[in-house]
Amino acid sequence: MVSRVIPVDPFDLVIFGGTGDLAQRKIVPALFRRYCAGQWPEATRIIGAARGALTVESFRDIVAESLRQYAPKRSKDPEAVNGFLQRINYVPLDALSEDGWAPLSELLSTDRIRAFYFSVGPRLFGPLAERIRAHNLATPQTRIVVEKPFGHDLESARALNATLASHFDEGQIYRIDHYLGKETVQNLMAVRFGNMLFEPLWNSQYVDHIQITVAETVGIDGREEYYERAGAMRDMMQNHLMQLLCLIAMEPPAKFDPDAVRDEKLKVIRALDPVEPHHIVRGQFAGGKQGRGYREVVGNNRSTTESYVALRAHISNWRWAGTPFYLRTGKELVARSSVINVMFKDAPHSIFGEEAGRHANALSIRLQPNEGITLKVTIKEPGQGGMRLVDVPLDMSFAEALGPENQDPPDAYERLVMDVIRGNQTLFMRGDEVEAAWAWTDPIIAGWQARGDVPKPYENGSTGPGDAELLMKRDHRRWQGINP
Ligand code: NAP
Repeated sequence: MVSRVIPVDPFDLVIFGGTGDLAQRKIVPALFRRYCAGQWPEATRIIGAARGALTVESFRDIVAESLRQYAPKRSKDPEAVNGFLQRINYVPLDALSEDGWAPLSELLSTDRIRAFYFSVGPRLFGPLAERIRAHNLATPQTRIVVEKPFGHDLESARALNATLASHFDEGQIYRIDHYLGKETVQNLMAVRFGNMLFEPLWNSQYVDHIQITVAETVGIDGREEYYERAGAMRDMMQNHLMQLLCLIAMEPPAKFDPDAVRDEKLKVIRALDPVEPHHIVRGQFAGGKQGRGYREVVGNNRSTTESYVALRAHISNWRWAGTPFYLRTGKELVARSSVINVMFKDAPHSIFGEEAGRHANALSIRLQPNEGITLKVTIKEPGQGGMRLVDVPLDMSFAEALGPENQDPPDAYERLVMDVIRGNQTLFMRGDEVEAAWAWTDPIIAGWQARGDVPKPYENGSTGPGDAELLMKRDHRRWQGINP
């Protein structure tokens, strides 16, 4: 099965912060892969913009190096690399002054899609929007792409939404949550709404509870300053885990169109109950054999920023009343794994008697690594006398099932940048969604601050603080393993 590549219209893409880490590690390699896939028309151009006084040639050298590092396979083709570099331009420009805006304006074509990617620190999002408008660079065909973090809390997110809205229509604003660009995250919707098998069971009558785990082995090196102000709640829970929760819990939208999908996601966030303090566990990695503790890394031995959070959420609507959602995410954990486990209820009555034991189905959707689905089903234990039951996995790895040409699915940024050019906002967060997510997380954070809450230490390379196990144990449940 070979995936089709649908060419897009010619576009000019300006990457503000073109020399930065995100641009060079993710955005540029993603554009290169799409270029190699033949998705770009000839006339398309990428324009890097930052304050550095670089020439076009020296910027192309930076791009070439980033391709070598982050798109190693395809960068071995000199023809592809040269063709791509010919389409790369650079303008020295300051988001906070008038420097460089006139030359940028001269470079842009009038007759095509314009996308401005804000790959700069969040304090520059507002000034960039203002200057794009002030220098008449915004046409009806213009889109802006705004990176995370979108605000620090509800108030700042509202202020940023208001600034952007004073210069652009909502239909021109693309707020990135790169989780939504992951192939398997989109597969959540395909699995739910493309199959008859699951949806009739997808409610509190049949689902006991749902677990969403995003575990990382990395720490916070290089991001200490940002992370110390953010913590796991703002950095991961408010956006990525919340988005996964929405996709797993939302009602079927009438159509797979941007507003229909985002309306349903918004309803989920608005139906979330406030979280009780005893339903949240905060943790902080404390070091051990596998590395330094959080406080040592940030150089603050009194830091109370959490690098781990686990919580139990409730969605108060007809579908989910009574079914808890357990969410957890953390850094410096035992494995890198993002997985959603839908834990079904026990069969109402066992015809096999007590000795057969209790067995429940579970559907695991692995987002990374080894993307795929496992359905735990109950069968007879072979060869035993009587009727003893055993659980076995029906396992499907997407890469295996879809064939070798799909072993290397597009990176999230490939999908998202092309969606910007296509003008498809389905996989981007709407302003009201982001605000609703902050409205849910803000009181949780305010509660910690008011109580002077101190996160529980956990060893680097572990599964997180012991209290997270207790959160489950109290409910007579247990976390599924983090190891994929
Ligand atoms: P970075 O490495 O610090 O790069 C920042 C870029 O902005 C540089 O190109 C810098 O170049 C440019 N810049 C700074 N001040 C500027 C100004 N006044 N006018 C014009 N350009 C300016 O940051 P990053 O890690 O790439 O992050 C960029 C954004 O993406 C941030 O909002 C971050 O939160 C978000 N993000 C990053 C990652 C990641 O993995 N890196 C992941 C998710 C989200 P000059 O100094 O030469 O101007």
